[in-house]
Amino acid sequence: MNLRLRLLALYPEQMNIYADRGNLLFLRRRCEWRGIGFELVRAGIGERFDPETADLIYIGGGQDRDQLLVAEDMRKTKREAIARAVEAETVLLAVCGGYQLLGHSYQLADRTVAGLGIADLETVRSNDARLIGNVAIELPASDRPADGARVLAGFENHGGRTRLGADAEPLGRVLRGHGNNGSDGFEGVRLKNLFGTYLHGPLLPKNAWFADYLIGLSLARQNGGKPLRPTPLDDRIEAAAHACARAAAGLDR
Ligand code: GLN
Repeated sequence: MNLRLRLLALYPEQMNIYADRGNLLFLRRRCEWRGIGFELVRAGIGERFDPETADLIYIGGGQDRDQLLVAEDMRKTKREAIARAVEAETVLLAVCGGYQLLGHSYQLADRTVAGLGIADLETVRSNDARLIGNVAIELPASDRPADGARVLAGFENHGGRTRLGADAEPLGRVLRGHGNNGSDGFEGVRLKNLFGTYLHGPLLPKNAWFADYLIGLSLARQNGGKPLRPTPLDDRIEAAAHACARAAAGLDR
């Protein structure tokens, strides 16, 4: 089978805090090491895209300043395409600032920035301390691959507090750290194949199992509609990175 993963990075220049672009490199390598074709396309300010040309869409985190720049452009030039992609079950991974922008709004001290309104959530910038530190979350059984992996470990740093709407599903449950708002025990959002999360790190190199899970979902259309199970790789270094991130978050002590 001639597999090919087409990755679309949204605003990689502006939305790349904590080296979130490292997630793109990690996806590339894990495809290439398996002989899966890989193509990276970018869409920045003012650029439109055809949702049918992406298997996986990615947006990283950003400072408030960058988010403001991006938010309006995103609504104008990309909202329709992103909404269509999500509806068609294309995989979308959004980290921190990018995650916040998928919701209804991001409320700052002096203004409210409208988001895409694709995920039922809203974010309010708090004057209280930023939510910073190592974090570990547990994913529900529906998002665990056969080998039983279930924890995502990473790093969070956000002033915004996100609350999910009544019907929205979180990505996971907080084991250590703050998560969406530091109080309700939820982290991220999960809608069709949309994954929103506060985890930086970058997220994927610290959680190789999750990178493979996303690759498998992204290639489902090329695999008769069933998520692909990517062939195992020699993951000794990746396993060590995951163990370190878990330990930093205070798990396994
Ligand atoms: N600017 C947003 C906040 O502080 C997102 C930060 C980020 O992407 N790390 O909440």
